[in-house]
Amino acid sequence: MRTEVLGIGFDNLTMEEAVNKALSLIKEGSAAYVVTPNPEIVWLCRSEPELKSAIAGACIVLPDGIGIIHGARILGTPLREKIPGIDFAQALMSRMASEGMSVFLLGAEDGVAQKAAERLGERFPGLVLAGTHHGFFSEDEPIIKIINEAKPDLLLVCLGAPKQEYWMKNNADKLNVGLMAGLGGSLDVFAGKVRRAPVVWQKLGLEWLYRLIREPRRIKRMIKLPLFIFAVVAQRIGRKKYAR
Ligand code: UDP
Repeated sequence: MRTEVLGIGFDNLTMEEAVNKALSLIKEGSAAYVVTPNPEIVWLCRSEPELKSAIAGACIVLPDGIGIIHGARILGTPLREKIPGIDFAQALMSRMASEGMSVFLLGAEDGVAQKAAERLGERFPGLVLAGTHHGFFSEDEPIIKIINEAKPDLLLVCLGAPKQEYWMKNNADKLNVGLMAGLGGSLDVFAGKVRRAPVVWQKLGLEWLYRLIREPRRIKRMIKLPLFIFAVVAQRIGRKKYAR
């Protein structure tokens, strides 16, 4: 049973439970995928039913961002933990390292995934870096071939949302990987190209504001956050017209 926030079901897991579930899915090896929608993506699902079904098809759906946590609380069905995709990936890779498991990094501009791999290798000794590829390709088949030859336990798909959600859904059947996770701009952070908000900002639920200050062009995307909260409140008070 998933906890619904504006029609999108989230798994009500702690970080530890999410990592344990991911590890057992890797061992099953069915190329299932993890998504971490934020309010912007939940909002987009209202006009893109295919995205909604790509998210519903994920084996784990984690609440990335304080907006989802507030939304669930306002709706009277609180989620236990905010689990940003990047934190989930780090916790998972740390456990994978101790078991000598492998990861393939797909996405970001040329050279970024390679740099991220070097840094992750230093940070998580024991983690096997099975390969990298940039995220600006026009055909999927050659990339799928490279990934399948590497046979990673985990494939990080960092093409930005919603591109990565569609990519994982459309290619899951063709991929020989343990598990996939769609992680937006995480490779930029792992590579040291983009800085994350300081921990205090993260704890205060203000990571979105930090990002907006650093990248003001995101305002167009972030404007959906107040619309999201408005729709949640409307649903809560039974104003179906506005909640839809
Ligand atoms: N990206 C990519 N291929 C594309 C478009 C984007 O690999 O065709 C990468 C981009 O370089 C960046 C990431 O996807 O590393 C998107 O980052 P963003 O922070 O915008 O992620 P989001 O907020 O969408 O999760």
